[in-house]
Amino acid sequence: SDADTDATLDAGSLRTPIVAVLGHVDHGKTTLLDRIRGSAVQEGEAGAITQHIGATAVPLSTISEMAGALVDPTDFDLPGLLFIDTPGHHSFSTLRSRGGALADIAVLVVDVNDGFQPQTEEAINILKRTGTPFVVAANKVDTTPGWNPQQGEPIQQSLEKQSERATSRLNENLYELIGDLSGEGFSADFYWRVQDFQSNIGVVPLSAMTGEGIPDLLTVLMGLSQRYMKEEMSVDAGGPGVGTVLEVQDERGFGATLDVVLYDGVVREGDTVVVGGRDEPIVTEVRALLQPRPNAEIRAEKQFERVEEVRAAAGVKIAAPDLDEAMSGAPVRVVRGGDEAALEAVKREVREELAKIEVD
Ligand code: GDP
Repeated sequence: SDADTDATLDAGSLRTPIVAVLGHVDHGKTTLLDRIRGSAVQEGEAGAITQHIGATAVPLSTISEMAGALVDPTDFDLPGLLFIDTPGHHSFSTLRSRGGALADIAVLVVDVNDGFQPQTEEAINILKRTGTPFVVAANKVDTTPGWNPQQGEPIQQSLEKQSERATSRLNENLYELIGDLSGEGFSADFYWRVQDFQSNIGVVPLSAMTGEGIPDLLTVLMGLSQRYMKEEMSVDAGGPGVGTVLEVQDERGFGATLDVVLYDGVVREGDTVVVGGRDEPIVTEVRALLQPRPNAEIRAEKQFERVEEVRAAAGVKIAAPDLDEAMSGAPVRVVRGGDEAALEAVKREVREELAKIEVD
């Protein structure tokens, strides 16, 4: 039957790695995320990227279209990348999964002209503490004097078209950045020279404004996930959903709702879920699962559409009763096959996870 086929496919499914963007204010985090969304939309067919609640999914096929010769899609079996839309290390540090970072990998955005700044250091400390693998996006290469912009091109192709003066000016900045990283105890290099991304930090020169170097960034993130995190990406895709609350938001017609990033399993309408609350874990039942309506240009009443189920990794809005006391950063877990003992076990897990988060 279809259900059986589904179950077989689900066994050992690989999920999308969750990516966070960090960096000093004004170094270009928001522009980078916008550009990734925008260029993915231009590049692919309709539906090439999906806007989730709080996150953007970029499938492998879109990455390989953007990256051209950089990517051989048969090298990858991870489905793509899921970018958390709220940049910055505040959201990064409050968003946990089982006590660790919710994001599997991070992009540290550094303005090539400005180099390391206080919030760059803060971000690095958080990445060190959580042991999160990251790449450095050396942003704003287009501001190099004499730069000849190459919209959306891989960075090495663009570099070939730059004057010697521009290239050497950019290189000075990049070497300074590599020096700063080494001062933090990271051996770093231009990403194309890095053999082992586990012990070396890859630096990707790019421009969030012109898009050059973005294909490289996406390729490096895919490679990093595929090489070193494939095991962690292997999920029980048909199992009970597990996620983290990004935000608790009032929505007209629904009351308090949860914006959730699901990182394991599946959540369905009607599921019993346990979510971390101010005093006690909240036990409730999913009334509706909501996703942004595709191409919702007009912020009209119906900005969401209902879906029956959502699979990890994904962002989703969960509408359910009794969510007023739910907290952002708290765990959410689906209880399935629900006898009382199963429910109590999940409540205990949620309590323990919350305690871990509050200690840090
Ligand atoms: P955030 O605070 O890190 O999110 O930074 P923003 O994305 O808001 O960017 C700060 C400013 O830098 C904005 O005026 C952007 O337009 C500009 N900016 C960001 N990336 C680039 C880039 O690659 N090139 C240029 N020339 N400007 C950029």
